[in-house]
Amino acid sequence: MALLACSFLIFFSVTGVNAIEDNVTDGTIINDTNALENEEKNISQSSDVDSIDNDTENQEDTVIYQTSAEDPIGSVTVEEVETASIYLKNYVDTYNSLPESIPVGSYTLTLAEFLKVLLTTTIQLDQGDTDTPIIITVVGEASNPAGNVNSGNILKSEYLQNAINILNFINANGRAPNYCSTSLHNLRFEGILFSYAKIIDFYKEHDRLPNYTIITKSDFMGSVTIEEIETASAYIKNYVETNKVLPETIQVGSKSLTMSEFLKVLLDAVINLDQNRSVPVAVTDVGDAPSPAGQKISGNILKSEYLEKATSIRNFIDSYGRAPNFSKTSLGNLRFEYIVFSYAKIIDFYKEHDRLPNYTKILSSDFIWKSEGVYNIQIITYERVKYGDSYRYVEKVSDTPTTNRTVTVEISNIDTSTGGDVTNNSVLMQYISRTDVVNKLIEVSKNGTPMIRFGDGTGTKVMMISGVHGNEIPPQIAMLNMVNYLMDKDIQGTIYIVPFAIPSSTANVARYWNGQNPNTISHIPGTPTYKILNVAKQNKVNYLGDFHSTREGGYPGANAVFCSKYPLYTSYKMAYYISKQTSSKLLVYSTAAMEYPGAVEDASNIMGIPAITCESLSNHGTVRSGSVSRSFYQMVFLARYAKLV
Ligand SMILES: [Zn+2]
Repeated sequence: MALLACSFLIFFSVTGVNAIEDNVTDGTIINDTNALENEEKNISQSSDVDSIDNDTENQEDTVIYQTSAEDPIGSVTVEEVETASIYLKNYVDTYNSLPESIPVGSYTLTLAEFLKVLLTTTIQLDQGDTDTPIIITVVGEASNPAGNVNSGNILKSEYLQNAINILNFINANGRAPNYCSTSLHNLRFEGILFSYAKIIDFYKEHDRLPNYTIITKSDFMGSVTIEEIETASAYIKNYVETNKVLPETIQVGSKSLTMSEFLKVLLDAVINLDQNRSVPVAVTDVGDAPSPAGQKISGNILKSEYLEKATSIRNFIDSYGRAPNFSKTSLGNLRFEYIVFSYAKIIDFYKEHDRLPNYTKILSSDFIWKSEGVYNIQIITYERVKYGDSYRYVEKVSDTPTTNRTVTVEISNIDTSTGGDVTNNSVLMQYISRTDVVNKLIEVSKNGTPMIRFGDGTGTKVMMISGVHGNEIPPQIAMLNMVNYLMDKDIQGTIYIVPFAIPSSTANVARYWNGQNPNTISHIPGTPTYKILNVAKQNKVNYLGDFHSTREGGYPGANAVFCSKYPLYTSYKMAYYISKQTSSKLLVYSTAAMEYPGAVEDASNIMGIPAITCESLSNHGTVRSGSVSRSFYQMVFLARYAKLV
């Protein structure tokens, strides 16, 4: 991570800059999502003792929850709990923080007491009981709330089990827990409370409990004051002037923010100060710019423009959940780092002069630039040239215009921890067609998980993945065939191809990564499959296919397409179409992530991207006759389902 951060923050790529000039508007290009590893940074060690651990030995009998013998304060009705839940939900939506106490019926409860009421209500509603009054008892406050939860969904089965676990904790300890251990990591007290309030609110609207509850990492991150932002801005200004790079994080008041989070705070502060409002600014989770890029520019940006840009960048952050790679200005494309630096200088000026400056000065020499970098996106144009009786696509090395057909693709590393030399896989090498573009992908694989993008990132978007299991050879051959096939196609949309999800596994004909099956850990931050799915998410992919092969006598042990009908019915429609077109068995699960929570397909569905898993029959490490073409047609028909070819 440290190495990667260096490459992002210190060195700028001229290659990337040239690429971006063609790509005018929003700075959305293929990403390296390694920055997501930062998610682990807020783990609080001190409160481990308060963990509500789902893995306790008495999980079997926890369905029975015994109410405690504590003296009741009184009771409230389910309707009163519903009303209080709506109140709480609205309060949080407005203030991004919790109230001190909450009115429930004729009582005013502490948040800890209300949590117990919410949990009891949830369990009671699950049992179809809307009549029994909910008993109120005294519950102590959480002693030191902490957590490091990830955004995502918690399914009903889990939130019901968690409710019981938390109630047992409250009964045993007389107080609310600091956090609850969940499949999305530790959900801190405030998040627990808010999620159950939302569950009850949903019940009131729909007369049933929701199938899952959405957890948002950035709830309750609090706010920082203008004075704190001013101090941090002065620090950034001095730091950049001295080091010509941005620091990785910045202390703002009591909070340590990433540069992306700080940028959002800066923009809000500038917008507020322009309106003479010196109010605190909410801190929220903002993803990093995946591939900062921009032009080497110098000049002044006038106040009217930097104010206008502040609003448009804020809108970008709201839409994409992350910082932009660059901002298009009157001087040219201003790279992410310059954006942060400019607004920090604007706030620093405000601190000194008590007004916003009339312009902000940009100097290309403010930051260090570097011409090459391992992690860069490579934009490569291939040209079709006659080769004997047929055509081949070869890399176009000069700018000379050509009447030959050309295709421009982007190749990038989306995970730099997985590199391997796939030419060591002799079975794979025996079958693949070593075209220029395939050779380029093999070369890039040495540095990590490669991805190639066909199309300009607009229109319907499909992602295809192979090599999650490195010992499954046919889909990886088929995927390279797919790459060669797409070189000659005009695509009405965008196709992202990850031919080797874990090149080191492919190189070693290995099934496991770090001792784990990669297709069971896609929901866990930091894993290769998680990073791939995040690239899909950031690029707003519409359909996703994960291509495997299966051994005889294994599961499924046949040409097959897996899918689930819930939560995304489209997954089933895709699978149905592909299975029909390719004579593959259709294997349908009712709900994603119930059986296999960490499968790429399941995690994708939970993330909101319809997904399927395709299987082609061939023993591991070998290529059965017909298995490559079966896998290839499964891919082609996924593209055809999306109407891309
Ligand atoms: Zn597999």
